[in-house]
Formats: sequence, structure tokens, C-alpha cells
Amino acid sequence: MRFDIVTIFPGFFEGVLAHGILRRALKERLVTVETHDLREHAHDKHRTVDDRPFGGGEGMVLKPEPLAETLEALGIRAKAERGTTSTGSRVILLSAQGQLFTQATARELASLDRLVLVCGRYEGVDERINELYCDLELSIGDYVLSGGELAAAVVLDATMRLIPGVLGNEASGEFESFGVADAEIDVDVDGVPRSQHGAGGLLDYPHYTRPGEFHGLRAPEVLLNGDHAEIRRWRREQQLRKTLQNRPELLERASLSVDDQKLLAAMRANQK
Ligand code: SAM
Repeated sequence: MRFDIVTIFPGFFEGVLAHGILRRALKERLVTVETHDLREHAHDKHRTVDDRPFGGGEGMVLKPEPLAETLEALGIRAKAERGTTSTGSRVILLSAQGQLFTQATARELASLDRLVLVCGRYEGVDERINELYCDLELSIGDYVLSGGELAAAVVLDATMRLIPGVLGNEASGEFESFGVADAEIDVDVDGVPRSQHGAGGLLDYPHYTRPGEFHGLRAPEVLLNGDHAEIRRWRREQQLRKTLQNRPELLERASLSVDDQKLLAAMRANQK
């Protein structure tokens, strides 16, 4: 999969690309990432990419011409000339005014061949670039960042780790927070009873490793007894408990079994 990032700070991504799973994915050529400096398409001697907003008010706005030129140089035509968006690529504007980027979005994007990520700065990007070239306007959360680079890095990271072959253990992308439900996973792939559940939209369960006792706190005994079915039950209960405690709104959309509903009812009764 190819990622193109349009930015006034290409150097921002050096650290992002140089570590961990993304570094390995780049080395193994599962992913390519190119950054494109907007200023290379500014034509005055100061390489100006911004201007004052029409209508007055705070700050500056990224001008449309350098953005359009950068996109065209990447082979991105205006939407009207492209016709349909049902190809394998998307142009994404990172914006606090966008739709919320979620794990479900990351899963959809990971099935594409190419993402072009446009990073705003200052007060944002001239809206005509959004209208003319962008297929999606994405926000990474309900807060305002000073630039789209951090948001692009978030979209890049969350998406590329779901590309087949990128995670060392394929299953780690399934058995984690916001993951899919058991019904969508081959849970019995090797005949070994799973000690995990597909999250089905819930948060992950808590994790423990050695030592068994740390600062007087023991790791839960159930995780040490080797009984996979019991571990699986305990982990599901913990997923439900964490979600109820920290993100109760996720429960409304989660895939819940009858047993899950009973456990939740008991937890809610105890909360009262
Ligand atoms: N005037 C904008 C507003 O109030 O919505 C904020 C502009 S912000 C200071 C500059 C740039 O940061 C935006 O153009 C966008 O690219 C990026 N940005 C800020 N918050 C973001 C968020 N929550 N998600 C994605 N990008 C964001």
C-alpha cells in the first residue's frame, strides 16, 4: 500500500517512519510512504503557501494553488475529472471538522492501494481543495491540533498495521480494542482452544506479564492456571467491565451475546 503525505513539514515524519512496526513494514516493502513538501509548489521567492482569510478573522489559510499543483503532480485529478471514487485510492483531508476516524475507518482504508493524506496548518485549507480533490475529511478526535501532520501519522499508523503481513502475529489485529466479533474471526484456526475473544467493538481486557507479584499486587490467578476456557471467560468479563467503566457508549454498538448481557446487567446492578 502506498501513502503520500502532503505537508509543509516533511521532516516531521522522519521519526514516525524510523521506528517499530512501520519501519519494518517499510523495510519489507509492505508499505511505501512518500512525503511531499507543499512549498515546492509555491512560486514566489518566499515560497508562500498561505494567505489571509477572506471575510477577516484570525490566522492564515493554506492557499489552494500549491495544494492543487502538488496533488496534480502526484497524478491526482480533480474529482469531477476522476468520475467515481470506487477505485483503490482515497484523498483524505485531515481536519478537526471531519468525520471521526475510528478503527472501522482504518479497516476500510487498509483494504485500499493508496492513500493521499493532506495536512492542514494555520486556520486550515482553502475549502475548494476539499470540494475539488478530497474524498474524505477525517478528524482524529474532538480537539484541535496545530497541524494535520500528527493526525496523518495517526491515520498512517492505525491503517498500515492492519495491512495483511504487517503485524508479526496476524491475530493481534483481531483480538484487540474495537476489533471485530468472534463470528468474523476464524477462532478455531488451529484446533487449539482460544484464550481470547474477538472484541466485537469492546475495549481490550487488561494484560499482565512476569513477575507474578509486583509491588504487592498479584497477577490474576486465573491467567496462570492454563485453563483456556476459563481465561477466555475472565477476559470477556474484563472487556465488558473496562468498556462499561471507561466507554459505556461503545456498548450500544457492540456485538453482545446473551451471556455478555447477563454479565453487564450484574455489573450495572453492582454499580448502583
Ligand atoms: N480552524 C480549524 C477549526 O477550528 O476546525 C482548526 C485548524 S488547525 C489549527 C490546523 C490544522 O490541523 C487543520 O487544518 C487540520 O489539518 C489539523 N487538525 C487540527 N485538529 C485536527 C483533528 N482533530 N483531526 C485532524 N486534523 C486536525
